[in-house]
Amino acid sequence: MYFDWTWFLIIPALLLGLWAQSHVKSTYNKYATVFSSRGAQAQDVAADILRTEGCQDVRIQPIGGDLTDNYDPSTKILNLSQTVYGSSSLAAIGVAAHEAGHALQHNHGYAPLALRSVMVPAVRIGSAMAWPIFILGLLVSFRPLMDIGIIAFSLAVLFSLVTLPVEFNASRRALRILADGHYLNEEEVLGARSVLRAAALTYVAAALSSILQLVRLLVLRNRR
Ligand SMILES: [Zn+2]
Repeated sequence: MYFDWTWFLIIPALLLGLWAQSHVKSTYNKYATVFSSRGAQAQDVAADILRTEGCQDVRIQPIGGDLTDNYDPSTKILNLSQTVYGSSSLAAIGVAAHEAGHALQHNHGYAPLALRSVMVPAVRIGSAMAWPIFILGLLVSFRPLMDIGIIAFSLAVLFSLVTLPVEFNASRRALRILADGHYLNEEEVLGARSVLRAAALTYVAAALSSILQLVRLLVLRNRR
């Protein structure tokens, strides 16, 4: 079972994932050393965007680690990583504006974000249970068990697909506001866009990987 051809199904996704990770790192590093001519720091840009767009109750705080930036809808906290918080680089401002974009989605009741939040607990359980249940079903050749594993895994696939519009939309909002609000000039917006596009690609790679893993599970099940 461990040396079957179905492994080849997930190799393209694995390679794309590795490439996307290194691409986002190198793009980020490149634009982390290019600074905005206005000189505003990322957390101030995010705060200003939130204020201007009517999001008064979001708190912005620094968080440890690299590329750990996120917006938590349950606490309304916008976490900015240590290389973003306090920086006026195009990369930092792009990321901060993207996270502010998630807060705006939340504030405006953007449906895919709401759906994503609702899915989180089920996806967490589904992801943890999917493989153990499936493998158990495979070992005892019991199809219903394999099906339960596949259904549980499908939740993770669905989640990775719902994540795509959420991420694309947050970046689109961010880049529009950065340009329209004159936080960055035209050329600088292109730098921020490169960073956000590279980040988006990692989500595409993750979605592709989960789809191919699901295909692999289906192939393994149907072989029995
Ligand atoms: Zn995001």
